[in-house]
Amino acid sequence: MLEANNLEVVYDDVMLVLRGVSLRVPEGRIVALLGANGAGKTTLLRALSGLLDVHDGKITRGRITLDGEPIHRASPTRIATLGVKQALEGRRILAELTVEENLRIGGHSRPRGIKQNLDRMYELFPRLRERRRQSAGYLSGGEQQMLSIGRALMSEPRYLLLDEPSLGLAPLMVQQIRDLIVKINAAGTTVLLVEQNATMALSIADHGYVLETGKVVMDKPAAALLADEDVREFYLGLR
Ligand code: ATP
Repeated sequence: MLEANNLEVVYDDVMLVLRGVSLRVPEGRIVALLGANGAGKTTLLRALSGLLDVHDGKITRGRITLDGEPIHRASPTRIATLGVKQALEGRRILAELTVEENLRIGGHSRPRGIKQNLDRMYELFPRLRERRRQSAGYLSGGEQQMLSIGRALMSEPRYLLLDEPSLGLAPLMVQQIRDLIVKINAAGTTVLLVEQNATMALSIADHGYVLETGKVVMDKPAAALLADEDVREFYLGLR
């Protein structure tokens, strides 16, 4: 279980962005993290994967534990080694490198497993196999998203953190990404999914959290969130 307890995060020493957030991601599940722009979803993912430092952010209160052991003071590399990995924010793939080179970089922490993991990725993402020798910069938005996910999976994480994988994609591609997340989860990877597309996220998640200005305002089974009229209207922008 990956768990945040009463987490408080500040940027630039002054800007309080998470105000006592608690969240549980039980092994084997898909957990959705929803909320409006600026609610703090990305910040929570950065905290969980140890990437706050890079953005001048700091945990000022609370803790993060993995199987009960505190990890909130650990480096991103250490956290990744322990099995918590975030797919690159904003699909920050290396555009001038080939698809395969990008995947290989993702697997650097597991050098002996690279060949096998590449095969696994090409099976999961046949499009990436077709384009493996092309520069990643030439991929479509959806393919870049797949590459970003594939690159994170190359390190064989137990917990995969995804930040808006459907952002900017056409409906058919959103559907494909959705199916891929289900497949990745079925193969044993736990998923924490940040999404603006609440319907998509809740349709595959076991549990959902809604963040509002740095606080958890809803914490319920996904089906209950989807069924609740008020939640749909006020928090999810659905009708
Ligand atoms: P979005 O969907 O727009 O990405 P979000 O829920 O992921 O929203 P965050 O990106 O976590 O929200 O941002 C929460 C707040 O923190 C916002 O007010 C944002 O402007 C601020 N913020 C994010 N990153 C930084 C940073 N590096 N320095 C200062 N403030 C930041």
